[in-house]
Formats: sequence, C-alpha cells, structure tokens
Amino acid sequence: MEEKEIDKIYDLPFTRMPHFKYNSKEPIPAYEMIKFSVNIHRGCFGGCSFCTISAHQGKFVSSRSEKSILDEVKKVSQLPDFKGSLSDLGGPSANMYKMKGVDRSICAKCKRPSCIFPKICFNLNTSHKPLLDLYDKVESLPEIKKVNIGSGIRYDLLMRERNTKGGDDIDSYLHRLITKNVSGRLKIAPEHTSDNVLKIMRKPSFELYDSFMKKFNSISEKAGLKQQIIPYFISSHPGSKEEDMAQLAADTKAAGLQLEQVQGFTPTPMTNATVMYYTGINPYDLKPVYVARTKNEKERQHMFFFWYKPEFKGRIKNTLEKLGRTDIIKNLLGK
Ligand code: SF4
Repeated sequence: MEEKEIDKIYDLPFTRMPHFKYNSKEPIPAYEMIKFSVNIHRGCFGGCSFCTISAHQGKFVSSRSEKSILDEVKKVSQLPDFKGSLSDLGGPSANMYKMKGVDRSICAKCKRPSCIFPKICFNLNTSHKPLLDLYDKVESLPEIKKVNIGSGIRYDLLMRERNTKGGDDIDSYLHRLITKNVSGRLKIAPEHTSDNVLKIMRKPSFELYDSFMKKFNSISEKAGLKQQIIPYFISSHPGSKEEDMAQLAADTKAAGLQLEQVQGFTPTPMTNATVMYYTGINPYDLKPVYVARTKNEKERQHMFFFWYKPEFKGRIKNTLEKLGRTDIIKNLLGK
C-alpha cells in the first residue's frame, strides 16, 4: 500500500472502543494493552522463517504519513482516562517506519525472502531519521507527556557492525529510544543462541545480541535508568535439537538471563518453518532438517528454558549426561 492508501484506512472514523458484545464492566486485558497505542506502519522485511507477518501484511513496509499518525494521537489524547502517556508508536517491528528499497525496480525483481538476512541489502534504506522526526513531533504535542515504544525492535538494524552503511541516525535513535522511550522493558527477539538454528530461522548470531545488550546496559546506566531487555526465544523450531537447547540454556545463563518470554514452535500457514516442519526438508537447499514433533520431544527441548526451576534440574542433568555435555552441568546446575 502506498501512503495515501494506508492513510485512507487509518483515517476511517474508528471508535477505538471494544466491540459492543463485551458489555462487562471488568477491564479487558487485550484492550487495556492497546488502547493508548498507535500503529505507524504495516508489513515487515525481516523474513523470519517462522513468522507470517510478511505473508499477511506484506514484505514491503507501508507507512502512514506523519499527519495521519498525529491526528490519531490527538484522538487518543481525548479518550476519557488518557493521562498523557502513549503505550506504543509501533508496528510489527517498531523501527521499520518509512524503510524501503532505494531503487524499487530492483525490489520488483528481487527473490530474497528477507531484506536483512543473511546481510542487510545494499538497496535497503535503513535511515531512522523519519522515525526520530515522528517521535519529536508526537512528543511536542501539548497533550503528550511520554511516548513509550511497546513493540519489539529489530536491534540488528541498530548495530554498526551489522548495518555497516547505517549513519549517525542509528546511534541517535538507539540513544533516544533507551533514554526516553523504554517504559522499563525493551522487547527484542534473538529467538535462539545456536548459529545453526538461527541460520534456519533467518536471524542474526547471538553474539550480536550480546553486543546489543552491553550497549543497552551502558546507555541505561549512564542515564541513571534501571531498565531491562525482555528477549524472546523459541524451542523446537525446525533445526533445533536437544543439544542446541542445552547450549541455549548455558548461553542465556552466561548472559545473566532467566527467561520469561518463551514459546514452543507452532506451525503457522505460509511460512518456511512450517514447510520444514511437515516435510523435514529445508526447501532452500533440499537438505534434511531435524524436526521435534512428538509431545515428549518438544517438552524435552522446552525444559531447558527453565534450568533454574528445581522441578527440571534432575531431568536436565540426565539429558546432559546422555548428550555427553557434562561440561554444562556444573555451570548450569551448580553440581
Ligand atoms: S532488493 Fe533489497 S531492499 Fe529490495 S526487496 Fe530485495 S532485499 Fe529487499
């Protein structure tokens, strides 16, 4: 969708109220979460193997105009219990606003499923300037006291070692985001730590997460802010074996994480991961891929997220012994 088309949809006179079938006086958790949030774009060029967003919203990002967004922010600010704080100015990934191929004729012929994996495409404009300008304009509205970014971000776009053609705007964005727009917790999605699995997922190496975390902590500390990253992980993704999950447990513990936001892989329509789940073959190289399918196989992977819970320690120790990873036992379980 071009800007005019997406604006036309978002400018419709939505009431922003829950559907009238919810007549309860009790708060509706899903509504409470989004009632003061504004969607600034649709689509995602990340192309993660397990994600359906590019299938149903598009690989090319459609961004709203500043005017359309500002008009909606003003409407939100008129809601009866609005206190001045927006919970999100976001999208599928918060930091893809206005990003697209510089030469659209190259994009029209392109067959890459992701514009940022395995490398960020030379033709992708990753400038965060339009996003910085938008945040400035929203924050300058008298009704707005704080803008939080509740959507997850693509941190790989903000790392110079990855986004080698990124300009000063990516540093400015990161600094501003961390010092002004994180409501205590920033969501990001490394998804795994094993390079083999990450490659199948089309996600960057876990080393990059480590660098990002150090940057996040250093900027937060200098600004005197106590805030944390909430990382998301998936078990049993095609390609993930028990030994990968054992390594994930060791790597995340070494990174000082006790995981909360985790999920077991669920096949969803129109994704590459689902093709691998059902066929056991990676369609890109036609090589076999290990797939955990039974309840038992999935549970044996998932328990590694919770190495710190006493009820899993015995099973994790037995599995590590069977896998020949006794080196991890002491580190992970302390005996
Ligand atoms: S040419 Fe580059 S920016 Fe355009 S669609 Fe392909 S990968 Fe994305």
